[in-house]
Amino acid sequence: MVVGTHRATKLLIDRQAIRHNIKQQQKKLTPDTALFAVVKANAYGHGLVAVAQTALEAGAKGFCVAILDEGLALRQAGLTQPILVLGITDPEQAHVAAENDISLTVGSLEWFTAYQKLPQSKQPLKVHLALDTGMGRIGFRETPELKQALAVVRTAAFDFEGVFTHFATADEQDDHYFMQQFHKWEMLTKIIDPLPRYVHVSNSATGMWHTNIAGNMVRMGISLYGQNPSGDVLQPSLALQPAISLVSKIDFVKPLHAGECVSYGATYRAEQDEWIGTIPLGYADGYPRAMQGFHVLVNGQFCEVVGRVCMDQMMIRLPHELPIGTDVTIFGRQGDQQITVTQIADYVGTINYEILTGLAPRLDRQYL
Ligand code: PLP
Repeated sequence: MVVGTHRATKLLIDRQAIRHNIKQQQKKLTPDTALFAVVKANAYGHGLVAVAQTALEAGAKGFCVAILDEGLALRQAGLTQPILVLGITDPEQAHVAAENDISLTVGSLEWFTAYQKLPQSKQPLKVHLALDTGMGRIGFRETPELKQALAVVRTAAFDFEGVFTHFATADEQDDHYFMQQFHKWEMLTKIIDPLPRYVHVSNSATGMWHTNIAGNMVRMGISLYGQNPSGDVLQPSLALQPAISLVSKIDFVKPLHAGECVSYGATYRAEQDEWIGTIPLGYADGYPRAMQGFHVLVNGQFCEVVGRVCMDQMMIRLPHELPIGTDVTIFGRQGDQQITVTQIADYVGTINYEILTGLAPRLDRQYL
């Protein structure tokens, strides 16, 4: 993978903001609750290892990843704290997790059966049982199968370390479905005695808007990065600071005459004579192609994105001729103005999570 260290387009990641966001969440937790930083998908685009190290400094006790390889990357970086893979890992690969002291999520009896047929690793495999209380994704759904799973996970081949569920609507105003899931969780967990070391239900939204919900571990994802899990629907109950900005510099400036067009499809035509700047950033960097008509910040002023965003370059209309090298903020703060990741997401009909995780590996990430 090639990282663009020789171009002006950069992601700036503010580690202080990450530490601040974690501390905000910690204030709402009881002292015996462990905060696990969710660092899957390259730490939501912010950079896996750098974020994990920053989260540790702020008091995170462990990490959640989506796939085993992300956990291995943390181990290779020397991190020794607990790591939980939230997705399903192929039983054939489970010995790699055991050998690297990485905990796996199990959500079906079939998984245990397949694992038990394989040569056993010397170390017991750390397991968190996933309970599907209404997310409809992975996990045990009914008491009888959960009872069978408990009988298996308490045998010597395993270390029964955790049990968890995931809420589908914790970021919504209406808590009807949330409560339905919570009651199912209570019903299912009633039979787990003793409970394992980690009992966890909280993603960012649950940790923010449902703080009365029990558990002794939280899985803090998007709010750790300073983003609102509900987009703009609910007001964050934590004073979050966005940790990421995308900046660049104008690398080409030209006058455009009335009637002349910009970019593929010639979808933008100047109505009058104007100045156009080009920025070395495109949809291959994760800035969506459909951002035409949105804006960036130049000298604290909003400038329209004109014409279709190309793979590696995009054009903006300038208020007047500006020098090459002028700073541009694509999202983040400039002067008194700000462009949020959520605004970009709204513009193209998606969520801030998708914009963040779509930020390309080739973007140079600089840590402040
Ligand atoms: N827990 C699970 C099981 C998840 O899948 C995720 C993210 O998708 C999280 C926690 C973190 O969620 P959030 O980023 O909304 O905090």
